[in-house]
Amino acid sequence: MMKFTLLFTLFTCLSAWAQDVATPPASATPPVPVAPPVVIPDDGIRVSILGYHDIAEKQPETAMRIHTSKFRKQMETIQQLGYKVISLDEFNAWKKDGKTIPAKSLLITFDDGWKSVYTEAFPVLKQLGFPFTIFLYKNYVDGGGKALTTPMIQEMLASGIMSIGSHSVSHPFPIAVKNAQKKGPVVFDTYLRNEMGESKLFLESKFPGKITTYAFPGGFYTEEMLKLGSELGYSYMFTVVPGKIKRDQANETLHRYIVQGNYDKIFEMATSFREGASGTEPVGILPGQVQTTPYPVLPEAGAVINSRLPEISADLSKVEKLNPATLTMKISGFGEVPANFAVASKKFSWQVNRPLRQPSCQVSITWKDSAGKAPETPLHWTFQIDRESAYLPDGE
Ligand SMILES: [Zn+2]
Repeated sequence: MMKFTLLFTLFTCLSAWAQDVATPPASATPPVPVAPPVVIPDDGIRVSILGYHDIAEKQPETAMRIHTSKFRKQMETIQQLGYKVISLDEFNAWKKDGKTIPAKSLLITFDDGWKSVYTEAFPVLKQLGFPFTIFLYKNYVDGGGKALTTPMIQEMLASGIMSIGSHSVSHPFPIAVKNAQKKGPVVFDTYLRNEMGESKLFLESKFPGKITTYAFPGGFYTEEMLKLGSELGYSYMFTVVPGKIKRDQANETLHRYIVQGNYDKIFEMATSFREGASGTEPVGILPGQVQTTPYPVLPEAGAVINSRLPEISADLSKVEKLNPATLTMKISGFGEVPANFAVASKKFSWQVNRPLRQPSCQVSITWKDSAGKAPETPLHWTFQIDRESAYLPDGE
């Protein structure tokens, strides 16, 4: 079997999705006819799925890294609140077979395959008896450095509390997926079959059991990926959109809370089961939750920046018949700001003049064209401010 060892000088994970399935491998068998979906009514049970990445005690907390002590505290909080942490099997039994689980249940997941899942999280989870799922991407397994090794994964599997899902072959960034998509349906299909299919075969050849869940790298997906995921035998695909899961929610687009080390509110929301709470709870856009804007913007949508005094700008050179006099820019915490329109470059920008205080910043730019019409797609986006930087004194 081919084995890839990659050197990661810089590794950033955006985030993920997952799926779970019980159909045979697509490579060896003709496509299985898809039965009409059975609609299972809402039973009032809510499942909250937590997503973690790296865990470390000594390094600074970021959106993608949480202190070991805080992780432990969060797990103990779940125990104290009396919530049930369920396994993927229990989730499946509830979601597909109509079995009952406690009304407030949680799934714990980890993306990418950081070594710290073994060194930091596993001891805590083992002690508390909490099952968990890890989404591995092929090229990072045994990737050296901070990557999990096969023996570590095997040991966690042997404990009986861990299950494995797929997180692609190469963990492509959305831009790479979009570039492949631009090359046409045949090329894109081949590309996706490798990322989604080869990763499944790799994990199934290496570890016991079927791989039936898929976590979309960066939370990015297309219609093609949803279809192909089902064909390849993934039963569940998890988004990075926060929200509780109801039994009647579509299995291809399940919610997940990506817990951020530097923003405790995500965990608080994930573990608050308010009466009747369901669906998405808007919390701004999480890092890893992929956004697209109709025109280029800075800081980019979904970006995590290290300054709380950024210049915010949009390149509007592709806007047709723009009437510059109608341009407005609104920023969360500021309201409308006196942004400047550069006639030559068609850049509409504003230099933030007092530090951004919140971990996320929403921007909205509006305009009308020469005929007085507003754009069809609004230009709204969100970026994140890394709290480390955000809290540095800067002479304000
Ligand atoms: Zn990832």
